[in-house]
Amino acid sequence: MNTEDEELAELDRESQRPEPKDETLSVFDALRARSAHPVDPVRLKADDRFAFRCHKGVACWNVCCQGADITLTPYDILRLARHLAIRPAEFLALYAIPALHDRANLPIAKLRMGGAEGKGPCPFMTDAGCKVYAERPATCRYYPLGLVSMKMKDAEKKEDFNFLVREDHCQGHAGPRQQTVADWRAEQGTDAGLAVDRGWIDILMKMTSWSSIGGPMGKAPSPKTQKMFFMATTDVDAFRRFVFETRFLDSYELDPAAVERLKADDEALLALAQDWLKNVLFNEPTIALKEAVLKGAIAKAHRDLAAGEG
Ligand code: SF4
Ligand code: SF4
Repeated sequence: MNTEDEELAELDRESQRPEPKDETLSVFDALRARSAHPVDPVRLKADDRFAFRCHKGVACWNVCCQGADITLTPYDILRLARHLAIRPAEFLALYAIPALHDRANLPIAKLRMGGAEGKGPCPFMTDAGCKVYAERPATCRYYPLGLVSMKMKDAEKKEDFNFLVREDHCQGHAGPRQQTVADWRAEQGTDAGLAVDRGWIDILMKMTSWSSIGGPMGKAPSPKTQKMFFMATTDVDAFRRFVFETRFLDSYELDPAAVERLKADDEALLALAQDWLKNVLFNEPTIALKEAVLKGAIAKAHRDLAAGEG
């Protein structure tokens, strides 16, 4: 088979590959829910209003901070570690447990609750409230709102919407105070974190959409891929070592100024980690291989193909 035939055969194989479904992910949803049907099935827009007020005088004060199921985003981990003056690896060891995002089949970190079987108080709960309030995780900021991110297969852009989580024990819904969704999000400071975590959300969404056929191109992520995903999305120091102490910089085209920034800028590293994972997992053009590496990879693919057909 000549090169042109090989390329045509590859295109043909591409066209026969199954398509993923619409991409939808409940990002911060009923994660703290313990009642059976806590979610109002209404899509809330930015100017929709809802009644809610949480304050120390409520009879349920701190109930929601016990046995809570809190997924930690990459930026949550970084911010909390900074607030506690430790590095992410130490934060993970002290305050997190690994878990599997079952729909995306990728590992994530959750906040480790105290007590038997994680039913006890959050390690940051005090009688006066949350002792990491300024840097609390995104799930805690959104509550009682949930966030869904979705992209219909034929739509050009992703769309976010919120919904209301209404748990039986939470008396915050009873008060008269009303606010719009936009005001709530501004007051709780949700959007700065969302901007940093967007790539991580996109990856979970995309993997979830592929899950019905086993994973991207029908292939589930290998244990090695899962391990790399966890490292790159939870521990910036480990990812920094991966960038600077392996052949990463020999393989990828990165601007020298950007490389310099990566030495000390944790947010820049988080952004690179998400771009790199999108490239590795879905072949997205978020980061470019160096020309020589690319040529070598193409030549190897052709050799492998020829050997397979020989
Ligand atoms: S981090 Fe703060 S708000 Fe979130 S569960 Fe723990 S104590 Fe509650
Ligand atoms: S009102 Fe709701 S959010 Fe506030 S302490 Fe009570 S359960 Fe938690």
